[in-house]
Amino acid sequence: MFYSMRFDNKAITALIALIFALWAWAGEVSAAEILVGTQDEFQDAVKDARPGDTVVLKDGEWRDFEILFRGIGKPGKPITLTAQNKGKVFITGQSNLRLAGEHLVVSGLVFKDGYSPTNTVIAFRQSKGKYANHSRVTETVIDHFNNPERFESDFWVMMYGKHNRFDHNHLEGKSNQGVTMAVRLDSEESQQNEHRIDHNYFGPRPVLGSNGGETLRIGTSHYSLSDSLTLVENNYFDRCNGEVEIISSKSGGNVFRGNLFYESRGTLTLRHGNGNLVENNIFLGNRVDHTGGIRVINKRQTIRNNYLYGLTGHRFGGALVIMNGVPNSPINRYHQVEDSVIENNSIIASDHIELAAGSDAERSAPPVSSVFSNNLVHNDDGANVIAVHDDISGISFVGNVLNQVEKLPTKTGFRSANVALIEADNGLLYPASEELAEVGASRDIKVLQRSDTGPSWYPKPGPQQRFDAGAEIIIEPGEDTLFDALQQAGAGDIVTLAPGDYTVRKTLLIQRPVTLRSQDAAQRANIAFERTALAEIADGGSLKLSGLIISGKSAPDVAGNTVVRTSRYSMLNNFVLEVQDSVVLDLNTNHSFNFFTAAKHTFADRITISNSVFRNVTGHVLYLNREDEDLGIYNAEYVVVKHSTFENVAGTLADIYRGGTDESTFGPHFELADSTLEDVGKGKRNKSGASVHLLGVQATSIHGNTFADSQPLRIVETVGEPVTRISGNRFETTPAPLVGPLGSAK
Ligand code: CA
Repeated sequence: MFYSMRFDNKAITALIALIFALWAWAGEVSAAEILVGTQDEFQDAVKDARPGDTVVLKDGEWRDFEILFRGIGKPGKPITLTAQNKGKVFITGQSNLRLAGEHLVVSGLVFKDGYSPTNTVIAFRQSKGKYANHSRVTETVIDHFNNPERFESDFWVMMYGKHNRFDHNHLEGKSNQGVTMAVRLDSEESQQNEHRIDHNYFGPRPVLGSNGGETLRIGTSHYSLSDSLTLVENNYFDRCNGEVEIISSKSGGNVFRGNLFYESRGTLTLRHGNGNLVENNIFLGNRVDHTGGIRVINKRQTIRNNYLYGLTGHRFGGALVIMNGVPNSPINRYHQVEDSVIENNSIIASDHIELAAGSDAERSAPPVSSVFSNNLVHNDDGANVIAVHDDISGISFVGNVLNQVEKLPTKTGFRSANVALIEADNGLLYPASEELAEVGASRDIKVLQRSDTGPSWYPKPGPQQRFDAGAEIIIEPGEDTLFDALQQAGAGDIVTLAPGDYTVRKTLLIQRPVTLRSQDAAQRANIAFERTALAEIADGGSLKLSGLIISGKSAPDVAGNTVVRTSRYSMLNNFVLEVQDSVVLDLNTNHSFNFFTAAKHTFADRITISNSVFRNVTGHVLYLNREDEDLGIYNAEYVVVKHSTFENVAGTLADIYRGGTDESTFGPHFELADSTLEDVGKGKRNKSGASVHLLGVQATSIHGNTFADSQPLRIVETVGEPVTRISGNRFETTPAPLVGPLGSAK
């Protein structure tokens, strides 16, 4: 015998079972859960972590914590970093997170009240060459974790490596420059990555007022002919308004499926790269300005079964835009649309579908060997919203249906019908007629619910209401009563001024949205001020002035006073300034006394003046021209002046500057209506020589005004396809408007 000891079969079986049980028990023990309370404890725990282990951060605030989470887990036995209680661990201050290794999972963290000292908050790499693979970040929050300098660019999430997943996260309020989330393809280790980006809540991103406000970018033009193979599925994009591209796909083989775009300005753009699929997505614009759909460029793109509703965007920001290409295009320009399919999409109550868009001397290659079939385009008024900008014989049109459109865009491939729509159980609109069942999006398309995205334990923001939702604070004239009231006022509060004279000794700091108004419309409060500014809008502030009389008579005898100014420093939060039913006069203690002055790197969502009078001003009423570096940055999205009078203003009513040649912004917009300008713009310091000076404004509407003894309007059109409408105005002893490209109107 080989063995000297003898066992029967039963004993051997029992022994094997015992060994197996011991081994399994040992395995259980090694899957440790290590609770850590300090950064040192965290580092030790991560260093020792083995597959299956979980490192748990104690509840509370972790300040200035640059987390390096490095390790090698195994399939089914990842190394996990999580919170003692999800949502109770706050990473604040100068903090960030890097993952490097294999099979890592991060969950339950909240980044807020701080920003990353590096260029990224969450990176799926330690450094170049040290990537994370097969790793996952889930149920993690980044909430307003912004660098305080608006134009200090950074990213919130950068995906590198392969086979990573980013899901059920909440990213809200990115306000500084830089893409919210990017997938990088800058090495072979990060290409054909098969990442999954799913069930995330991409919360509101305010208008940036410059390029660099995309919410998701996959690739860059440099690597755009490589496949990324990234799946972007079931994500909710809620008011992602940063710039013209919500998603910029700059690589191949990506799938965008089942996402919902809610009142988001901009489009999903297939900017570079081939062979992408866009299907079952829902775009609900609800008629909000600049809401768009899908923009198609490049080869082998498939856009099918999408539902697009209430989209107002135009030109490259339309509901559906098929671009012209550049012959032999450089990698960073426009590749011709080729072998692409656009089928079974429903485009309802939307204003613009653009075919061969961008056709010009450079973009002269129209789409070829492509198909546009079984799409439903429906507008109640029977308007034709399909614009054709070049030869579209390279697209075969089949079976498309329009609602009661008289003049069809092509001879064949479209038919007009009387299409009644009914709301289905999923809340979407479909043709009532069974005969049209095969046209447009399918009946079983699933509408993603907001509550199915992001972590369930983190609240999602509601609608934004800035003014007048708070409490009323009534004040009487007296030393500092106005200043003190504003110190106490909460967001949305209304400070009501009893009749009388208010002399303001200290500049009013506006830190939250507040309204100042007269208590009695017949006996309006008089405000004078002794500092170089009456009010300063600080970051987070907005100001509404209603029914007041504001005089500059007590302001210091120095040049350059202003009634309202922004913070002198960069502001992350967009603000609103509203002036209504008010009188502003005697801004003339010295020269260059403005009503409103914007500092560089501050941004107004809206400035409105209505039913007001401005008289005797030595500077400008609205001075928004400090972004003079021609980087495409500007100071206000909408400037609207209505039913108002301007008399004896040495500077301009409005001087708005938006330089640069980049086409990534919606605005600025300017409207002047039903107002009177008398003796405006003639001061010797008004270098523009204009009563209204606009440079690079994208949408201008000037109608129903009277201009008397004033300088002309000067409108310099520089970038994009600016729309300038001037109609129904009277010009008395005022030169005709000067409108044209740079050099002509200057
Ligand atoms: Ca862009």
